[in-house]
Amino acid sequence: MDFGFKISPSSTINLDLVDTGKFEELHRLEPDVYKCMACGSCSSACPAGNFSGMSLRKVILALQRGKEKDAVSMLKNCMLCGKCSMVCPRGINTRHLILSVCRIYGEDQV
Ligand code: SF4
Ligand code: SF4
Repeated sequence: MDFGFKISPSSTINLDLVDTGKFEELHRLEPDVYKCMACGSCSSACPAGNFSGMSLRKVILALQRGKEKDAVSMLKNCMLCGKCSMVCPRGINTRHLILSVCRIYGEDQV
């Protein structure tokens, strides 16, 4: 029977099964990545977010959850303008963080 809606598939992630090797490498290079509290200020200030799915908040969460392809796909829209760095309440140098992500997860992919 068609109810006109469907139940979303579960987005549960078993973090025990996620390979966090690259994220640990990112943490060594950018210790501030653990300061992120997912407030979303960076995403709301991001000019790329207005015309694409770019959200630095989502990128960081995706990397923590081992969803590297999702993160890299979003980062392709980043213009490295640095606006996110100016609004981050945790003082994270987000632009530098993005460049480190490019280095670790493959500059040719981002
Ligand atoms: S540097 Fe990238 S993520 Fe940050 S505000 Fe600019 S386009 Fe958005
Ligand atoms: S503004 Fe800073 S603390 Fe907030 S989600 Fe972005 S990176 Fe994380």
